Amino acid sequence: MPGETIFGKILKGEIPCDEVFSDDRCLVFRDLQPQAPVHLLVIPRKPIESLIAANREDSELLGHLLLVAAEVAQKEGLESWRTVINSGKDAGQTVFHLHLHVIGGRALTWPPG
Ligand code: AMP
Repeated sequence: MPGETIFGKILKGEIPCDEVFSDDRCLVFRDLQPQAPVHLLVIPRKPIESLIAANREDSELLGHLLLVAAEVAQKEGLESWRTVINSGKDAGQTVFHLHLHVIGGRALTWPPG
């Protein structure tokens, strides 16, 4: 169940997080193992497992998450950043509650590993 992931527990307040932003649809907090000077996670309050499980009804929510990601990135002082959504195990997804990584504050290489 997606609601039973570590992010589900953070949303319920059962596990602490370093919160950056919150509204009625999402929560943004700092990644525990940052891969760059700024590494935020934007998660919906709705327990969607991944983009694989999202559907057209989630269109507005997904757009909201992207816009919040851009807002918090700029509030962190970033002019450039990368927004990443790992979808599925082989893509590196380890927590099965949809999340957008916002990574910046250093030069990022491409392609990713
Ligand atoms: P992914 O590999 O795309 O599923 O990303 C999961 C991310 O969640 C990783 O970057 C982890 O470092 C991060 N993470 C796991 N547990 C926590 C936690 N309790 N608080 C903040 N970040 C976490």
